[in-house]
Amino acid sequence: MKTQTRCVVIGGGIAGCSTLYHLTQEGWTDVVLVERNELTSGTTWHSAAQVTNFGMTQTMVGLKTHSINLYKDLADDPDYPINYHHADGGIRLANTEAQMEGYRHFASMARGMDVHLEVIDADECAKRHPLISTDNLIGGLWDPLDGDIDPAQLCQALARRARKAGAEVYRNTPVTGLTQHADDSWTVHTDKGDIDCEVVVNACGYRVNEVGAMMGVHHPVTSMEHQYFLTEEIPAIKEAGHRMPLLRCPISDYYCRQEKNGLLVGFYEQDCKTWGMDGIDPNFVNALCPDDLDRVTDVLEGAFERMPALMEIGIHTVVNGPITYTIDGAPLVGPIPGKRNAFCIIGLRAGLGEGGGHGWLLAQQIVQGEACYDTWMIDPRRFTGHGNVELCALKAIEDYQNEFRFHFPHEHRPAGRPGKTTPLTPVLEAEGAEFTLVNGWERAEFFKPSPDFHEDYSFKFNNVFGVVKAEVAAIQSGVGLAEVNGFNRFELTGSGTHDFLDRMICGAVPRKSGRIGLGYLLNHHGMLKGEATVANLPASDRGPDRVWYGSAAAAEWHDMDWLQMHLRDDDDVQIRSLTNDQTILVLAGPKARTVLQAVSRADWSATAFSWLSARECFIGVAPATVFSVSFSGELAYEIHIPNAHLNAAYRTLRETGEAYGMVLFGARAVDSMRMEKGFLHWKADILTEFDPFETSLDRFVKMDKPDFVGKDALVRRHETGPTKRLVTLEVQGDLAPAHGGASVMLGTDVVGTVTSGDWGHRVGMNLAYAFVTPDLAKEGTSLDIDIIGHMTPARVIAPSPYDPQMTLPRS
Ligand SMILES: Cc1cc2nc3c(=O)[nH]c(=O)nc-3n(C[C@H](O)[C@H](O)[C@H](O)COP(=O)(O)OP(=O)(O)OC[C@H]3O[C@@H](n4cnc5c(N)ncnc54)[C@H](O)[C@@H]3O)c2cc1C
Repeated sequence: MKTQTRCVVIGGGIAGCSTLYHLTQEGWTDVVLVERNELTSGTTWHSAAQVTNFGMTQTMVGLKTHSINLYKDLADDPDYPINYHHADGGIRLANTEAQMEGYRHFASMARGMDVHLEVIDADECAKRHPLISTDNLIGGLWDPLDGDIDPAQLCQALARRARKAGAEVYRNTPVTGLTQHADDSWTVHTDKGDIDCEVVVNACGYRVNEVGAMMGVHHPVTSMEHQYFLTEEIPAIKEAGHRMPLLRCPISDYYCRQEKNGLLVGFYEQDCKTWGMDGIDPNFVNALCPDDLDRVTDVLEGAFERMPALMEIGIHTVVNGPITYTIDGAPLVGPIPGKRNAFCIIGLRAGLGEGGGHGWLLAQQIVQGEACYDTWMIDPRRFTGHGNVELCALKAIEDYQNEFRFHFPHEHRPAGRPGKTTPLTPVLEAEGAEFTLVNGWERAEFFKPSPDFHEDYSFKFNNVFGVVKAEVAAIQSGVGLAEVNGFNRFELTGSGTHDFLDRMICGAVPRKSGRIGLGYLLNHHGMLKGEATVANLPASDRGPDRVWYGSAAAAEWHDMDWLQMHLRDDDDVQIRSLTNDQTILVLAGPKARTVLQAVSRADWSATAFSWLSARECFIGVAPATVFSVSFSGELAYEIHIPNAHLNAAYRTLRETGEAYGMVLFGARAVDSMRMEKGFLHWKADILTEFDPFETSLDRFVKMDKPDFVGKDALVRRHETGPTKRLVTLEVQGDLAPAHGGASVMLGTDVVGTVTSGDWGHRVGMNLAYAFVTPDLAKEGTSLDIDIIGHMTPARVIAPSPYDPQMTLPRS
């Protein structure tokens, strides 16, 4: 066994084997996989191993396409062919129009990745799948490339190719400990000896937290018991003369595929069970949980009704095994938060289908520092301190119970609620707030017009439209107050702070005390990594000269890792997080200054406190830090308050605001208003797949700065010109917003992808942002957007259709 290598991958299921193989493809051939037993002795060996192309984001669709292409290539390898039923086709069923609308959106989104899903009616479903009844069926989504693969052969084939390229695989070699050294390298301890390496990868399936504990980390992954059964032969299958397409049913939550001349049917029952939460028997190897078909009778009935043939046929095998879930259903593939040179590929609940793609994206991240797609939706840092074992279990159960029921826009499910709250949460609830979750925080989304108001979740504009319209109108003509909790805020102190930020940000960094600027952080490929508001606070009795670095709530761990990673030993910079200590109250609208003046003694005139200023003060008796910045485009102030004083500040503002007709508003109104201003959201519009020029952020780049992270690469990119350009579009229709991922079309060609869409109530326009090919980015260009199956005309317009000169925030 080697004692030294570049990377040790721990775990020999699909996750580990795929990572190992892809590391060799990325050029790292001095790599090792260690497996405590034989390859595939965890979950992988008994997987139903369906391989679909369907995904709910373009990253998911893209990585699944990679799996499919790779598996096809492996299956066709004459030296080591493997069993892969490629392109049997598959149907996701629907019994409501709302589900069909969702499928139309997913088909529009997939088309942008060159994947052609088809929305078909009930008769067509029955034509393609001769065993199903069309009772209570409207139609479905057809995935032509759906299929299934032999999981053990797949892993062996990947390991074989990796070995051929130079990698080594050590079976029956349990990892017993991990030690990290001062230079961030690791020693992996096994019962056969130690291996020193630069990088470790946790790919340990349901034993993820045994290995996590070896590095002092808890990963938000819970295992659930999951069952399928195999039937005897069904004569109609043999007679059909073709393989049965796969079925996935969101009505009863089961799946079904052909196995020999019978069926394999798997269940996601309501009465489901977590597994291994209090420890796993070390001898649970190549093992299964006891059968328990009684638990799945609710779902079984649905499957029998859809496929009456099942009632006539015997079951010969039941498989019940552990399957891993995370808090939001997507796996954790990427850097381990707070650790250096440590990665994970865990929480895979559809690891056979996705594993090829996840290993590919992870290997790119390890070797190149970034993957070809934006990987935020699988980034392990997307859950922060709230991602604990209990929340994860509740969300895993909820997700399992809704396996094939996709979330509608703005839908946030109830398990584990309320999430993180501030002293204002119950106060706003009493005012009628409907809450959404932002990085685990309960944030007011809108204020219900009546206590029994419920949102009709839909891909179309729905009954919240009028509620948001009224909030926006009240802000535009008077003044509104909103709580923005969970906003990420770091305090940077030390003499090197500004030089450090100058190195991290590609544009100008304000250095003057009391001034604020917006900056963008790039990765080493010159692509967008982060967005930050930099505010210089003068020394006071609250602290020395310091900078507040503000970014999206979800960016808390991501940005902390990125900043810490770039600190040099001789930098005099200290970074501490204030994210959980402070909350923002936003005061917006033409009367905002009058209200602020009435609650705080300072001079708030435009000359004394101009746009982009920061100042400490008191709101009543509550200490506050006020920024004159505006995400709404109105005259506005961000008032940052320590949580202990939040209620006091709120009451002062609310009581004073009454005389000025102040309304409360929520995140949906903010989203509508920011679209009218051309303001972007991190990870909706600001993606690592694009550089700042492509994202139309040219004014935030200072190429004449001596250096900044990513500059060399950005210079090279700038010379070759953009691949896409972010534009604002006016959509000519009021049926539905253009949802993120929808395809932008020129005739039958896909020429772009929507990142955000919403109605702009002040300009009366249906607005969208999209990346389109640069030749189509000119104002006035006419395009179409495929919005839930409707080819909807859209026109490129100038960004910021509302108050483009920014006169209101400066007024
Ligand atoms: C009944 C069932 C049906 C499924 N059907 C499908 C499907 O149709 N399609 C699909 O895509 N997915 C399906 N899945 C899910 C899929 O099987 C899993 O997502 C996938 O197998 C997980 O692979 P993994 O490599 O992450 O974990 P595992 O296969 O569990 O591999 C982890 C490996 O790590 C090793 N290990 C653990 N601790 C150590 C240590 N200390 N030292 C060294 N090695 C260690 C283990 O021995 C194990 O081999 C199904 C799952 C179940 C249970």
